[in-house]
Amino acid sequence: MHDPDCIFCKIIDGRIPSRKLYEDDLIFAFHDIRPVAPVHFLIIPKAHIPTLSDAETAHEAMLGRMLTKAGDLAREAGCTDGFRTLINCGRVGRQEVYHLHMHVVGGPDPLPPMIVFER
Ligand code: 5GP
Ligand code: ZN
Repeated sequence: MHDPDCIFCKIIDGRIPSRKLYEDDLIFAFHDIRPVAPVHFLIIPKAHIPTLSDAETAHEAMLGRMLTKAGDLAREAGCTDGFRTLINCGRVGRQEVYHLHMHVVGGPDPLPPMIVFER
């Protein structure tokens, strides 16, 4: 599946340039354009799946690939002793780009607390 108007589909196609880290038959990884840490890249499926909530049994191989590649790519990027992954999902999760993506973030040792709730 492919959405001609989706910016991440365009990145996969090369119609929008990106700093690519990795690509195979199921997934694509590239540096985030607005990094929140020294290491911040995104792993996305090649198929246009809008959110994690849209993932189905048929997507299990791709979802597994996203997770198993995260460690390899993070290590290659210099995160030899840990990193964080994050998937924002939907309105409540404040997802901005509606093509499923997993953030991989690292660099500061240690990273700040996972989520800071304002009270
Ligand atoms: P979300 O808030 O949806 O979880 O994250 C979307 C991420 O995509 C953001 O961190 C944002 O910086 C990144 N992003 C948005 N547009 C582009 C782009 O054109 N190129 C790259 N490399 N990253 C992008
Ligand atoms: Zn897409």
